[in-house]
Amino acid sequence: MLQLYIPLNFLGVIYREIRQALTDIERMFGLLNQPREIADKPDAGSLAADNATVRFEKVSFAYDPARQILFDVDFEIPAGKTVAVVGHSGSGKSTLGRLLFRFYDVTGGRITVNGTDIRDLQQDSLRRAIGIVPQDTVLFNDSLRYNIQYGRPDAADGLIDTAAAAAQLTDFIGRLPDGYEARVGERGLKLSGGEKQRVAIARALLKDPAILIFDEATSALDSRTEKAIQAQIDLAARGRTALIIAHRLSTIAHADEILVLDQGHIVERGRHHALLAANGAYAQMWRLQQQEANEAETRN
Ligand code: ATP
Repeated sequence: MLQLYIPLNFLGVIYREIRQALTDIERMFGLLNQPREIADKPDAGSLAADNATVRFEKVSFAYDPARQILFDVDFEIPAGKTVAVVGHSGSGKSTLGRLLFRFYDVTGGRITVNGTDIRDLQQDSLRRAIGIVPQDTVLFNDSLRYNIQYGRPDAADGLIDTAAAAAQLTDFIGRLPDGYEARVGERGLKLSGGEKQRVAIARALLKDPAILIFDEATSALDSRTEKAIQAQIDLAARGRTALIIAHRLSTIAHADEILVLDQGHIVERGRHHALLAANGAYAQMWRLQQQEANEAETRN
């Protein structure tokens, strides 16, 4: 009986490992919202982008033909600059990031990087040039090192240390008995939302992309954490062409341009102070968030 039990038990372990790996992959694609394969054109070019200027030119988009999500969205992120997008939940902000990464193709207009339509680029080269810090970072059931290195599997230890330090993970890693080798994820260490996001920032910094998409988490934060996130966005965006999808207006007050999206339309655009002075939708959202922040501070 024991002779049968041992191999069966072993098979059980392997089965669970495979199930877990499949769950990781499913979760990753589920969260990244990847629906279908987009094929390269036969003559697709390679993007060699150290300095990348991104343009959305009259972009329209629908996940489902019956419901249009974006309407004539037009903006430019000059190389090295930061554009932030704000707007109510469901207004289409994250969709802009998904289109730039080419999870989906636009249904009208075009997106260009350095003047080339991204549909004419090899997806690999486009995706190599883009780092994403998603709202909800997927961690693999593996070591912290693996999870950071995922952005660049061939990275040397020194580079991993630098990226971890820049993402303010050094102290955290130093406190773990196994350091970088600590296992994280479902069967290991549970990281807080902020820690997960710092791992995602370290991943993105290690990849050293010309273009950064930062999709800020929606969860409410105290003002100290909010300031820390603002500092991290600034750091990750420095020297890159950055699209920041923001939920807290205070984190993007320094953006070179802020777009206010309402049901897929850009209804306002400009810098923070100009938008406040215009006293429109942005100013209203700002006042509301300030009021909520004050109320939260009073409660604490
Ligand atoms: P939030 O602030 O809540 O993150 P958002 O402004 O980023 O919202 P998007 O995620 O871009 O909004 O979604 C815009 C609209 O598209 C929403 O109404 C959403 O329900 C819809 N949508 C998003 N993903 C899909 C999908 N895969 N299929 C169909 N509709 C989708």
